[in-house]
Amino acid sequence: MRVLIVEDDPLLQDSLQRAMRASGYAADQAMDGEAALRMMGGDCFDLVILDLGLPRLDGLSVLRHMRAEGCRSPVLILTARDGVEDRVRGLDLGADDYLTKPFSLAELEARARALLRRGKGSGPRIGCGGLDYDTVERHALVDGVPLELSARELSVLEALLFRMGRVVSKEQLLESLYGHGEEASVNAIEVYVHRLRKKLEPAGVAIRTLRGLGYLLEKTPSP
Ligand code: CA
Repeated sequence: MRVLIVEDDPLLQDSLQRAMRASGYAADQAMDGEAALRMMGGDCFDLVILDLGLPRLDGLSVLRHMRAEGCRSPVLILTARDGVEDRVRGLDLGADDYLTKPFSLAELEARARALLRRGKGSGPRIGCGGLDYDTVERHALVDGVPLELSARELSVLEALLFRMGRVVSKEQLLESLYGHGEEASVNAIEVYVHRLRKKLEPAGVAIRTLRGLGYLLEKTPSP
């Protein structure tokens, strides 16, 4: 999952980016409205966290431009406490949710999860073989027992589950795991997939490698 954080306050920007990365999302940043639009031009983000008070181009203008250009990414706007009108205008312009500053990171993370889930058109639970994935809590259970996963492994699993039945390329995995400027490598992806494959084996879930194409998550065929 790939998140763009548009916020001009460096401290808040930094803590948002840390929180998103700790959750295993690829997080990119833009410090002003023009930079945000530039970044959205070439990339489709799974979520945009958008501050409204921004230099160069304010958040509402960013939102209007991106929707006019057909970008459907879910948008969570950040507004000042007294910004009722801004919130209303933001929602009218196609924002999906809002948070009033100051907010807790826990609340932001919960809202972000909800929007990411909705953006993928997924229900609260996804099952495959003996695996049961809770998209709200981001917990995986195998036959009722919690599966221990690192943040990166969790991200790989989500990317595969949200596209179940379809092949996910290594490039797509790279994009959903790493932000711009983060050291990323195909080798690392292969390592995460390898570890995840071992952990999913007891659940009767296989990650099939389709050479040159990518990976496919599926129930292990019965013998
Ligand atoms: Ca601001």
